[in-house]
Amino acid sequence: MVRFVLHGMAVLVLTAVTQLGGIAWLAALAFRQGGGRFWAAFLLGYALLMGAAQLAAPSFGRVPLPSREGPLRMQSAFYCIAMRNFVSPELREVAIGAAERVARQHPGAVTLALDANFPLPAPIPMIPHLSHGDGDKLDFAFFYADAAGYAPGRSASPIGYFAFERVGEETCPPAFPTLRWEMRWLRPAMAGLKLEPERTTALLRALLDDPRVGKIFLEPPLAARLGVSGGKRRFQGCRAARHDDHIHVQL
Ligand SMILES: [Zn+2]
Repeated sequence: MVRFVLHGMAVLVLTAVTQLGGIAWLAALAFRQGGGRFWAAFLLGYALLMGAAQLAAPSFGRVPLPSREGPLRMQSAFYCIAMRNFVSPELREVAIGAAERVARQHPGAVTLALDANFPLPAPIPMIPHLSHGDGDKLDFAFFYADAAGYAPGRSASPIGYFAFERVGEETCPPAFPTLRWEMRWLRPAMAGLKLEPERTTALLRALLDDPRVGKIFLEPPLAARLGVSGGKRRFQGCRAARHDDHIHVQL
């Protein structure tokens, strides 16, 4: 019974994090006699599903964002391994175009993408996001600097999210339950980098200038600090997650 519950939890978590990993786990259960074979079967099954998803995704209007090269990259290999780097072809053009513009204005600038969408359409959104499900939503990391200046390809947080700029300066009234976590307990894991305003603002302007972009979410005080208030730049409201640790873009 305990095993059944644990396997069920593993399938749920893998499905939430990677969309297809739960299927690989279930298939590997057929090989669970002998621990080594289970893990080999799981990894092989997951690799096969990853390959199949890359082939199938274009039929559902999804293409992967580049993982590790060019002016636009995923912030970490995790996003590619978990297949969280899929967008519509139009959004990929928008994202690469914006990253190229930032790199022209600031040579050597690397734009880092965070959560995009899964390769296949699904009835539930990509947790913890409320909206990343249709291929037209994408998050970007801020640009960061250390004492020597712009730090290419680096983020304050190991996964790009949760290095909040406005800890202790809440815009919304207290509420429960809330998605506006501050996650102060995570502060020791942060790299001690500072937001680099020039390149971050250049990316925001490139996205705002693209007529295909419908909305950008960024906390209003941070948008004011970066000089990009108003227009398509919106506040996501007090009921959604904070946007002072990343930029959310949708077509
Ligand atoms: Zn988002």
